[in-house]
Amino acid sequence: ATPTALLVGTGRGAQLGILVRGPEALEQTRRVDTVVLDKTGTVTTGRMALVDVVAADGTDPADVRRLAGVLESASEHPIARAVADGRTGTVTDFANLPGRGVRGSVDGHDVVVGRPALLAELGTPLDDALLAAVDAAETAGRTAAAVAWDGAARGVLVVADTVKDGSAEAVARFRELGLAPVLLTGDNERAARAVALEVGIDPDSVVAGVMPEDKVAHVRRLQAEGRVVAMVGDGVNDAAALAQADLGIAMGAGTDVAIEASDLTLVRGDLRVAADAVRLSRRTLGTIR
Ligand code: ADP
Ligand code: MG
Repeated sequence: ATPTALLVGTGRGAQLGILVRGPEALEQTRRVDTVVLDKTGTVTTGRMALVDVVAADGTDPADVRRLAGVLESASEHPIARAVADGRTGTVTDFANLPGRGVRGSVDGHDVVVGRPALLAELGTPLDDALLAAVDAAETAGRTAAAVAWDGAARGVLVVADTVKDGSAEAVARFRELGLAPVLLTGDNERAARAVALEVGIDPDSVVAGVMPEDKVAHVRRLQAEGRVVAMVGDGVNDAAALAQADLGIAMGAGTDVAIEASDLTLVRGDLRVAADAVRLSRRTLGTIR
């Protein structure tokens, strides 16, 4: 189904800004006992800002900026938007590696931008100076995207995200309903913990550095323990986990694949509304019985 084909559920749901896919969604919402939250774009705004560019010895930082920027113009990822920052250019042989990064040809160079571990996997590990830049960025709660071209690591781009206004309150509302949220992210552990601390999620409930396929596996594991899981997400990397969850909840500004995989869509991307939906469904269905 396309987003426009989603049914608008109860009148109250529509007032709150929730699109409901089908009649079972309300019942699933009532049964939820575990809430899993994606970080980037769900708990945070996902409107990242590029805050630093570090070049390897002998590399011009302007080249790091330009080649990475043009390559990322072909991606919708929040990191990509920050790195591209309005740049355009021709990218050929583009490949999106969800939860890892992107690869493509720019100006005749084979360019890769992505998580530092991806570069090592592709045989272009970071040197000590670039590793130190990654470490400094992550210690500051930021996210580092590493850049390589033509078979060598060339630089590191540092991006910073901000927590959404309503996220801490949303976590508090989930807690009031007896639901202690889990933060599940592909980003690094330190950035994830900084966000968890800011919104009131238990440090023990942070699962970081996970690949998209591991997001699904984590949801399955919770279900195998008998939990009824709601997953809230926005990205391509969340789609499989949203579909696997007993209740998939997508951010309205999220990617189409995330919305299509979900039972509910939060039109304004306000996480507090997800908690309200659970409260409302418990109350409504409680009365009907
Ligand atoms: P999240 O789970 O927080 O939404 P993702 O699974 O989308 O994060 O991404 C996980 C990690 O993969 C990012 O923190 C980043 O290091 C890397 N990554 C993914 N896509 C890109 C991209 N387009 N450019 C650079 N890095 C990326
Ligand atoms: Mg996300």
